[in-house]
Amino acid sequence: MAYQYDLFVIGAGSGGVRASRVAASKGYKVAVAEGSALGGTCVNIGCVPKKLFVYASEYGHGFGEAAGFGWTNEGTKFDWSVLRDNKTKEIERLNGIYGNMLGNAGVEVISGFASFVDAHTVMVNGKTYTAERILIAVGAKPFIPEFQGSDLVVSSNEMFYLDSLPSKALVVGGGYIAVEFAGILNGLSVDTSLAYRGDQLLRGFDEDVRAFASEEYKKSGIDVRLNTGVDRIELVDPEDQASERMVHFKDGTSERFGLILYATGRVPNVGSLELDKAGVEFGKNGAVKIDKNFKTTADSVFALGDVTDNIQLTPVAIKEAMALIDYWFDGKEVDFDYDNIPTAVFSQPAIGTVGLSEQEAEARGIDFRVYQTDFRAMKHTLSGATSRTLMKMLVNNADEKVIGAHMVGDYSGEIIQGLGIALKAGATKADFDATVGVHPTSAEEFVTFSAGALKERK
Ligand code: NDP
Repeated sequence: MAYQYDLFVIGAGSGGVRASRVAASKGYKVAVAEGSALGGTCVNIGCVPKKLFVYASEYGHGFGEAAGFGWTNEGTKFDWSVLRDNKTKEIERLNGIYGNMLGNAGVEVISGFASFVDAHTVMVNGKTYTAERILIAVGAKPFIPEFQGSDLVVSSNEMFYLDSLPSKALVVGGGYIAVEFAGILNGLSVDTSLAYRGDQLLRGFDEDVRAFASEEYKKSGIDVRLNTGVDRIELVDPEDQASERMVHFKDGTSERFGLILYATGRVPNVGSLELDKAGVEFGKNGAVKIDKNFKTTADSVFALGDVTDNIQLTPVAIKEAMALIDYWFDGKEVDFDYDNIPTAVFSQPAIGTVGLSEQEAEARGIDFRVYQTDFRAMKHTLSGATSRTLMKMLVNNADEKVIGAHMVGDYSGEIIQGLGIALKAGATKADFDATVGVHPTSAEEFVTFSAGALKERK
């Protein structure tokens, strides 16, 4: 049967744009349907505007720290509307670039939300489109648990367009988004509390990293509250939706906040897709079930990125798109390696991590040793800040390969990218030792770890 398109992509986010653009450049007839702005979560309400907000909030600490270097900072003021609107202009510029990129590659962009009619047919704005292959790349959306007053909180989506900043905010959650936004608000001089239900923030990260980062967040001014749950939330003035919120915590205490951000995870954005009509099934956590070649339970339908149960990171979705293209065009079976994916949490301080945590290495039964150090970065000898930097490296005793690198401190995200290459290439401790350090940097600690930094493990 002849189809209108070789490939129909649903969702013009990181994965969808890459797949459609490259498929079109290789000669496929491609359409992509997008109901919101081009670029998806990362460009519009995720990585990009978040990082711009992080830069803005770092000045909040920076002005104070500059005094030790001789600067006088009287009269510094922050205007939220300038930041928000400049950010929005930049995002609109990027939306335009995405549109041009798709257009230049010959991809037809269809504006609207798509739903399935069958495994080769989708409908957008009441019109049907047929395709030999359909790719689901619709990403994920914030999850907020239901409770009394859950309608009075915002998700990260709304944080990018707030009318004004509150004087006091509560962030609920303990993952990437919670700690990143707590840092942003705190840096922008909002009195910020971070409430997490468990014993320690950032579940899944190395335990030393979790504990160290948590202490640094406290030092930076965030009121970190562990083992803290919200029972219910009410308007302080029931007649005024814009009034402050009264948060009743599970321990019986109550407190007013101007803004409450729930950063309690993200769920696959499959609501309106009508996947059952295509025979596409769900797997773990409501994600679209795929095989190793990104094929769903329908032969003609594929899925990648945050809508699947794989790691929710933009560069992962992009690499998955490239792997899928190789599979389609060269018949190359996908062997996507989800190990040694470097990642950064853009909290303040930032966290950079690649490879195994100490706990993961233990769980895998690996015989390994740990080098670890923490120190006051040179900048803070004059800035007066009490912040410290943590660096940690795991080495496999069997083959001397470095199997994990972790950092909490300034520039961690930048530094961990280079270490990611080293781990991917299978570098050994001797390779690290043979590398000349860049002086004076924090990063050089990774190539100067000596026996003195060996951690005594229990
Ligand atoms: P995470 O899964 O990282 O964190 C969710 C947090 O919410 C956890 O601390 C979780 O607690 C808590 N939580 C879950 N349900 C509830 C509940 N019902 N009540 C109270 N707390 C709850 O999700 P995020 O939304 O922060 O981020 C989603 C993903 O997006 C990340 O995993 C990451 O892959 C990606 N991301 C990456 C970024 C980056 O690369 N810098 C930035 C932002 C997001 P518990 O641990 O106890 O389950």
